[in-house]
Amino acid sequence: MGGGVIGCAVAYELGRRGLEVRVLERRGVGLGATQASAGMLAPFIEAEHAGPLRRLGSRSLELYDQFVADVVGASGDSVPYDRCGTIEVATDSVTLARLERSASELTMAGVGCRLVGGSEAVDDEPHLSRHVAGALLVPSHGFVGAAPLTAALRRAAARHGVSFQSPCTVRRLAPTPQGIEVQTDSGGQLSDVVVLAAGSWNDKVGAEDGATPWVKPVRGQLVRLQWPAGPRLTKVVWSSGCYVVPWPDGTTLVGATVEDVGFDERATVAGVTGLLDAAREVLPAITRAQFETVRVGLRPGTPDDLPIVGWSHAVPKLLYATGHYRNGVLLAPLTARLVADLVLDATPDPLLDALAPGRFEAAATALTGASVTAGSDT
Ligand SMILES: Cc1cc2nc3c(=O)[nH]c(=O)nc-3n(C[C@H](O)[C@H](O)[C@H](O)COP(=O)(O)OP(=O)(O)OC[C@H]3O[C@@H](n4cnc5c(N)ncnc54)[C@H](O)[C@@H]3O)c2cc1C
Repeated sequence: MGGGVIGCAVAYELGRRGLEVRVLERRGVGLGATQASAGMLAPFIEAEHAGPLRRLGSRSLELYDQFVADVVGASGDSVPYDRCGTIEVATDSVTLARLERSASELTMAGVGCRLVGGSEAVDDEPHLSRHVAGALLVPSHGFVGAAPLTAALRRAAARHGVSFQSPCTVRRLAPTPQGIEVQTDSGGQLSDVVVLAAGSWNDKVGAEDGATPWVKPVRGQLVRLQWPAGPRLTKVVWSSGCYVVPWPDGTTLVGATVEDVGFDERATVAGVTGLLDAAREVLPAITRAQFETVRVGLRPGTPDDLPIVGWSHAVPKLLYATGHYRNGVLLAPLTARLVADLVLDATPDPLLDALAPGRFEAAATALTGASVTAGSDT
């Protein structure tokens, strides 16, 4: 259930391993949070400190070269993918001190990185403002085109026999002795296993049974510009107010707001101006860029910012793969692998302990109704 980057990656992996898989998607493949994503692969910025999120992110990043090569090979599609590195800049002493701490923590953990002063940062990335006081470079970071990747995953999965039904809304999941009956707006179908990968809408499946919300939508707005003529940025630039991703075709993404506004997917003037002001502060040349579009998506957030991956404690044969919040694109290869291992009864990965659906006890208890119901698309 769900054809975002997570559902498609899981379906591809399960299909590749020989399972019969069908993806049920309500809107269209990749049209949830995934279409808005900046596609950054930057675990050492996203997870500032050592812990499960950083372990997940760095393990998934390690899989990325092979993952993209396999998906491109199986689909025949091209997928923009560049490990160009990130430059995280500080314009004040507090941020600079934080970057210094990050640099020593990353170095101790064996992660390649370099802390540079303001003038060296500008030498490295000449578009940076002269107000930059210092910067942290992480060369292993990069980005991938989330929408082309998801389209390629779909095609690659189809080559492995996966079928896609879209538009198709899952209304209810009813466990039976034979498996789970998946009731959709176009009829019912029985499945041995259901993987719930409905992103922000996952919770709507249980909400009508009174379950405590596990996954909460967190709106993100992102602006796409055409970089002005002349030399382009060479790295992803990250500041305390925004990040800027340079695409090979000259388009540039500026992201992203983080807003708690429920299921509201509209763009706002405040969101867009806030991002552009933040970008201009570190990259003055951006004022000459052409405005192209705004993208909006609902990140699936969880109470502890970690994804939910594992078997439901309440509904047999129901597997969660959701709650990837700001890192669903980064975590797609690893999530697909973890889910496929669970379905195929491989030895569970120790990392799954931190991601278990059971860690939200109240929700697990409330789901003990042996059936779950999907809500409306609002
Ligand atoms: C502005 C922005 C920038 C981001 N930047 C990054 C980034 O740089 N790097 C990164 O790694 N991540 C980033 N993210 C986060 C990333 O986009 C998400 O974590 C990821 O897309 C989640 O994927 P998903 O497949 O779980 O959810 P989604 O893409 O939302 O997919 C869920 C799908 O389930 C379908 N669905 C829901 N209910 C039903 C139902 N009842 N029946 C059938 N189908 C249903 C939906 O239609 C949807 O297509 C960003 C997000 C935003 C919004």
